[in-house]
Amino acid sequence: MNEHPVAIIGGGPVGLAAAAHLLERGDSAILFEAGSTVGASVLDWGHVRMFSPWRFNMDAACVRLLEATGWAAPPPDELPTGAELYERYLRPLTELPVMRGIIHSRARVIAVSRRHHDKMKDRGRDDAPFVLRVALADDSESQFLARAVIDASGTWRNPNPAGADGLPALGESRSGSYQTSGQRQRVWYGIPDVKNSARERYLGKRVMVVGSGHSAINTLLDLARLAEDEPKTSIVWALRGANLQRIYGGGENDALPARGRLGLLMRRAVAAGAMEILAPFRISNINNHGSALVISGDLDGALYSAEVEELIVCAGARPDLRINRELRLDLDPVVESSRALAPLIDPNLHSCGTVRPHGEAELRQPEKDFYIIGMKSYGRAPTFLMATGYEQARSVVAALAGDWAAARDVQLNLPETGVCVSDFTDEDACCDPNAVDCCAPAPVALEDIPLASSQARVQAPIIGNG
Ligand SMILES: Cc1cc2nc3c(=O)[nH]c(=O)nc-3n(C[C@H](O)[C@H](O)[C@H](O)COP(=O)(O)OP(=O)(O)OC[C@H]3O[C@@H](n4cnc5c(N)ncnc54)[C@H](O)[C@@H]3O)c2cc1C
Repeated sequence: MNEHPVAIIGGGPVGLAAAAHLLERGDSAILFEAGSTVGASVLDWGHVRMFSPWRFNMDAACVRLLEATGWAAPPPDELPTGAELYERYLRPLTELPVMRGIIHSRARVIAVSRRHHDKMKDRGRDDAPFVLRVALADDSESQFLARAVIDASGTWRNPNPAGADGLPALGESRSGSYQTSGQRQRVWYGIPDVKNSARERYLGKRVMVVGSGHSAINTLLDLARLAEDEPKTSIVWALRGANLQRIYGGGENDALPARGRLGLLMRRAVAAGAMEILAPFRISNINNHGSALVISGDLDGALYSAEVEELIVCAGARPDLRINRELRLDLDPVVESSRALAPLIDPNLHSCGTVRPHGEAELRQPEKDFYIIGMKSYGRAPTFLMATGYEQARSVVAALAGDWAAARDVQLNLPETGVCVSDFTDEDACCDPNAVDCCAPAPVALEDIPLASSQARVQAPIIGNG
């Protein structure tokens, strides 16, 4: 079995880091990337400026490989956009001959199992190579064998729905990313490039944004700038919780100043009345109404409907566990991360800024030599940082190489988070405003929030969907 390579699923920053660590150790690797290029998910949000500077965004083994070729490192304290991360770091990496030789793009892993072993079969399981079923660009399927598998496929392609129950709202029908043909034109999951390619789409429209994390804030601020150019543009911000303090975050105290600044900008935009706020708003129905969408739900205990022309859902993402169905995994029932990692990252439990360094030991699964790393390793927890993933990659690869001393020697120097931003949790789930270690600025009273205007109210059925 040892002649097989280590298979990596996903060519995002963390999957590529795992590849670099394997190559550095002289191990053989094969990397499958579903997109037409590595960094496909990063490129999806390429217009967004990152909140952590270059020095936190690059993996040490990748940098060593690049530096050996005369690559010039970007300024450590500058903040790249997603597109710059790709152009100046991920793309040069994939152009290295050693990397080029192992990357298969347009290759989507659709299932992983053990050769001649379904999930039930014990005997000889640990020694059986992994089987990866891969869908290729020409629609054919192929099969690859691996001695170990590192799943770094992220969560970006599996967005959370607008519906408040964890399920798509009635009418937010699930097809691909919950988009029905009727609504495809008017619902966007993720972060549209409001300033450029999506500008015309939103100019002069009434737009609702659902979500409360970094992605939602970026989108809302871009829309607020659009509304300055075209005042007919109006913005409705729908939040499941009502604790704006958590959303504004660490402000000037945030150890990642760019992230703190976003919160401050948002606070100012809200104070200036740039948007209506529906909070707490729990969406239950999304109905077509002529050329508009009627979004209905529970607004602070009362039925409420808002009519908008566009809906942007920035409600975070969740891991797609279907490809792991035939493997023996022990996942936390709440977070959907490995069980050992969950208490470190569960926003229901941990205080801000306290994610302990972790590595192979916390990521280990009952399925020997199978690891989930990167964004997907955090399951539904939204606080993942790239630097965390790079240390996971280093530690896991060391373990696969039998270098247990290096695997256990986990070193992670993360900035204090200083903020606890979440896309999906209830308002008070993480940060207790009275807690000493919750380093956010002064609470914002609900009375300070401009509430939804009466024009937003329309008559629409709440139960069932037309
Ligand atoms: C808008 C935004 C801004 C962020 N800013 C920061 C920041 O400033 N600092 C920070 O530390 N973190 C930031 N993050 C969080 C996180 O670090 C990034 O999401 C990062 O890209 C995660 O890296 P990853 O490699 O785990 O996953 P991804 O970048 O999501 O990569 C996963 C890759 O796997 C591929 N893939 C998916 N499924 C399959 C499959 N079945 N088969 C093959 N390939 C597959 C995808 O196409 C993708 O290329 C940000 C996230 C977002 C969304």
